[in-house]
Amino acid sequence: MDLKSLIRDIPDFPKPGILFRDITTLLRNPEGLRYTIDTLTQKCKEVGLAADYVVGMESRGFIFGPPLAYHLNAGFIPVRKPGKLPAAVHTVEYELEYGFDQLEVHQDAIHPGSRVLIVDDLIATGGTAGATAKLLQQIGCELVGFAFIIELRDLGGRQQLPDVPVVTLIEY
Ligand code: 5GP
Repeated sequence: MDLKSLIRDIPDFPKPGILFRDITTLLRNPEGLRYTIDTLTQKCKEVGLAADYVVGMESRGFIFGPPLAYHLNAGFIPVRKPGKLPAAVHTVEYELEYGFDQLEVHQDAIHPGSRVLIVDDLIATGGTAGATAKLLQQIGCELVGFAFIIELRDLGGRQQLPDVPVVTLIEY
């Protein structure tokens, strides 16, 4: 299936000069959605990614994470922006183009030694996925890999990630 044809390009979003890859057009397509989840699952299995938990980052990691976790017989754990999770959290700070941001996970959600797979819709600079990896590794988790629907190759995000398998479906 030509998944790229289901991704909509939006110029100058969220700011001038950025070409945003919009996945809502993929999500609303029944065959596209099914193919995406099935293929992501299959590729994860092909490289032997067995995980106790799939970890997805707010917000679009929440869309692809749970169905992937379901098919891999894993649980799903949300990683959120600051102040959103109700119980005690572990926090990681990471650098943005201008300034810093933080990501949080519930302290009692994951334990040292848990095998975790990180999933998001897209990897650009790798800042978000890299920070999530750091957060999980600080807790003592075993990071087994990453899964993304889209990889923006020119931004070199993959090089920011620890040396574990990275599964992707579409490259630009
Ligand atoms: P990074 O941290 O790798 O630079 O950026 C990736 C994060 O930003 C992901 O959480 C992703 O959802 C979001 N993101 C950045 N650019 C795009 C884009 O063009 N399309 C979509 N769907 N998400 C993007």
